Amino acid sequence: MHEVSAVSNLVSGILSELTRYKVSRVNSVTLVIGDLTSLGEEQMRFAYEIVTRGTVLENSELIIEHEKIVLSCRNCNFRGPARYITDPDFSSESVPILSCPGCGGSAEVVEGQSCTVKYLDIEEEE
Ligand SMILES: [Zn+2]
Repeated sequence: MHEVSAVSNLVSGILSELTRYKVSRVNSVTLVIGDLTSLGEEQMRFAYEIVTRGTVLENSELIIEHEKIVLSCRNCNFRGPARYITDPDFSSESVPILSCPGCGGSAEVVEGQSCTVKYLDIEEEE
């Protein structure tokens, strides 16, 4: 499962960051996940629960923010959100179109690939 390795990478990054503080409790962890990463939120939550077991992150709240895909086109100078189509075979998911909405040419993805920790809400020991 794609999500498990993504979450374990994030969690080990967070844990090494937290060694710089005397953490008594972690209230919540906020992640930013780009739509282009195709990481499923449900699977992320499930993986987070397993990966954080036995660590200081256990029982902390996982907050997931989604980052929409933004494209930039050199051809026509378009810059804006990608269009999404709903795939009839996967009616619950929408599929991003990565060609330029302005001219149909190939556009560069400037946002939507994030898989990062945005914020840690921690309590430090006195
Ligand atoms: Zn264009």
